[in-house]
Amino acid sequence: MSLNETLFQRAQITTPGGVNSPVRAFRSVGGTPRFIKKAQGPYFWDADDRQYIDYIGSWGPAILGHAHPEVIQAVQEAATLGLSFGAPTEAEILMAEEICKLVPSIEQVRLVSSGTEATMSALRLARGATKRDKIIKFEGCYHGHADSLLVKAGSGLLTFGNPTSAGVPEDFTKHTLVLDYNNCEQLESAFQQFGDQIACVIVEPVAGNMNLIKASEAFLQTMRRLCSHHGSILIFDEVMCGFRVALGGAQSLYNIKPDLTALGKVIGGGLPVASFGGRADIMAHLAPLGGVYQAGTLSGNPVAVAAGLTTLKLIQKPGFYQHLSTQTQKLVDGVNAAAQEAQLDFCADAIGGMFGLYFSKTVPTSFEQVMKSDANQFKQFFHKMLDHGIYLAPSAFEAGFVSATHDDKVIETTINAARSVFSELTCK
Ligand code: PMP
Repeated sequence: MSLNETLFQRAQITTPGGVNSPVRAFRSVGGTPRFIKKAQGPYFWDADDRQYIDYIGSWGPAILGHAHPEVIQAVQEAATLGLSFGAPTEAEILMAEEICKLVPSIEQVRLVSSGTEATMSALRLARGATKRDKIIKFEGCYHGHADSLLVKAGSGLLTFGNPTSAGVPEDFTKHTLVLDYNNCEQLESAFQQFGDQIACVIVEPVAGNMNLIKASEAFLQTMRRLCSHHGSILIFDEVMCGFRVALGGAQSLYNIKPDLTALGKVIGGGLPVASFGGRADIMAHLAPLGGVYQAGTLSGNPVAVAAGLTTLKLIQKPGFYQHLSTQTQKLVDGVNAAAQEAQLDFCADAIGGMFGLYFSKTVPTSFEQVMKSDANQFKQFFHKMLDHGIYLAPSAFEAGFVSATHDDKVIETTINAARSVFSELTCK
């Protein structure tokens, strides 16, 4: 038995499913999860000392590659000064200043410790500021696991949603309207019917939780226009795409100013930092200034903030995003070409340092389309790539991540592996 298998069996005794976050269990692809011992640059190593090229990058944070020496040093230095104070620090101000500078729609920001906290708090703030209850989200977008966001579409068009998780009372989701991503007409109808009751619209402007799906410009513009017209708050959940698709996030690419933005992942550089922020008049509703309560024992933790600040400094180096996008595009172009040689119904797409691989003829633009891609073929592809030492997201419905350390050699190794795996898929 491999060490990964032994660890997986042991883990299941004391941890539900053996993992601390469900996707890690390989449920949708089957097989044994790899237990990771260490990571460096674009690589990580499992318990059996097998090396992998890593394309999940901790699901987004590892944009500089794993264990960047400057980040590690900043963390070590911060740790020697104390691990947590529960009182403010200058580093938190620096972090807030940096976020406000890089994302101009954010005038004020509050630091939290996870993306879930960021979106949950942004929702509460939007509801508190507008004194409205209803919210709009889109099928296939994930915003963390706050109760009112674990919702799928109701049975009819423009009916309020049903919980996607046991333990979420219908009463908690009855204010959440779930619409189709990239569907402007539905948005128009929803606002026509409920406009003045809608506290906010929350959206991933580049969706990375139903594989990679880009919003159309019209979709985001319609949303912006309708929110402004009806006094609803537009929340961009950029926990994944912020500082991942561009330095100023997806909002800088689309040139749309949301009222609030949730950030996470990259801004913590691998440690738990996330944030929500935006218009100062809205943020003024937060405690201690206003009536919307939100707090955190470890919010703005000095060690985590040191990792985040150093990461934010390094991604501002000239050419950083150019390099990241180029490498990601090389990967996608190479994998696309290899699939074409093998005459597979496959395509790949990228934006900044994020990519999507789809076992379908065309790049999907909605949850419905992405669900039609061939998950079985993905499963085979995933395991064969893993055998070649390439670690992709263990699900056909997750995006992939490239880091600045994925150099030409790493990309070429990946494309060669994909070519070889594709040829086996066609011969099956
Ligand atoms: N929003 C988005 C867009 C995410 O991708 C995620 C996590 N994948 C979250 C929120 C939740 O973040 P966390 O896992 O840090 O709670």
